[in-house]
Amino acid sequence: MAEVQHWRVTYNDIHNLIRQATPSIAAQFNPDLLIAIGGGGFFPARVMRTFLRDETTNKTLQIQAIGLSLYESVEGSTAEQIGNEVIRTQWLGPDSGKLLLGKRNLIVDEVDDTRKTLHYALSELKKDVEQELLSYPESERESLRSATKFGVFVVHNKLKSKLADLPDGTPYFAGEEVGDVWLDYPWESINIEEHDVQAAADKSTRQ
Ligand code: 5GP
Repeated sequence: MAEVQHWRVTYNDIHNLIRQATPSIAAQFNPDLLIAIGGGGFFPARVMRTFLRDETTNKTLQIQAIGLSLYESVEGSTAEQIGNEVIRTQWLGPDSGKLLLGKRNLIVDEVDDTRKTLHYALSELKKDVEQELLSYPESERESLRSATKFGVFVVHNKLKSKLADLPDGTPYFAGEEVGDVWLDYPWESINIEEHDVQAAADKSTRQ
């Protein structure tokens, strides 16, 4: 079996990908809440907030965090099994639906690999919104539902066949599209200087 190719990416690479991606996210989605999927989405969400800062109002976006971990099944997976394979390690709390309702919520993660994590995050957050809507009169629900938007930003999207989908029309932004390589992120590194040296070497083989 061919060995999986590793690409090391640096903090600066990630910072610059987010800087480049943010203007179109601001123009096309204009989030008012960032939901970071931990742990890989924490640093990207914090950097994105810097670039989303409103220059006139100096408004700082709120970042909320959820923790998800992928529990791999032995036999591969179907769409129905996805919910069982992603484990919640942290969620938004009892007022999740209230927090999300009426907002443009941008889910932020470092990488979209099989897409199972993003699928799970989006569908569970939407369930929280539906739960919250039950406390409103039926006549108000539809307009509140359509005022609540979800979008996705990932630093890297792997161009490969995905094991889960996002609903059609979900605003989706990626800092960079890559092949089916394994990305080594700087926050996973014990020796950051060595990591950066290796990252430069990896880049020379990418061209
Ligand atoms: P998914 O397969 O659900 O899209 O991604 C699940 C998780 O697997 C990601 O959030 C990330 O933590 C991890 N993952 C997937 N691909 C990579 C990769 O290339 N590098 C690293 N470091 N983690 C990855």
